[in-house]
Amino acid sequence: MTIKPLIILPDPVLRLQSKPIETVDQAVRTFADDMLETMYDAPGIGLAAIQVGEPLRMLVIDVSKEEEEKAPRVFLNPEILSTSDARSTYEEGCLSIPDYYAEVERPAEVTVRYLGLDGQMHEETADGILATCLQHEIDHLNGVLFIDHISKLKRDMVVKKFTKQARRVSA
Ligand code: ZN
Repeated sequence: MTIKPLIILPDPVLRLQSKPIETVDQAVRTFADDMLETMYDAPGIGLAAIQVGEPLRMLVIDVSKEEEEKAPRVFLNPEILSTSDARSTYEEGCLSIPDYYAEVERPAEVTVRYLGLDGQMHEETADGILATCLQHEIDHLNGVLFIDHISKLKRDMVVKKFTKQARRVSA
């Protein structure tokens, strides 16, 4: 397993549309392992392939609590089939926007369809932190970041800060 370097805001790669996975082969399984390793190392509770520079519709999630056993999940080509009218608010962060957190309101419940590493299609209804995490990660596959769901003023501030930082690093 390999820990992959993370793509950080304002890298335009984060705005790409990711492409569907055609077949579940060994390369996909190995990449899923690498993504999980990268997510656990960060540490984070979710990671989309584009965050390590691969524009593929693939994400990994583990929302188990610290004292619980690890519960790695892999979702290929995930699609949101329906969302609840009820909303919930969580303080979100993103491995591509380190050390920045903001409250985001999203549907409290989502039903998703996805391809599993077993090569089968699955449907699942999620609530709580998993529902928020799935929506956050599926957004990544469409080039959307959680800061797109906050006020423009706050978003402009965080983009400016990260743009400055990136300039400093590359100088
Ligand atoms: Zn993210």
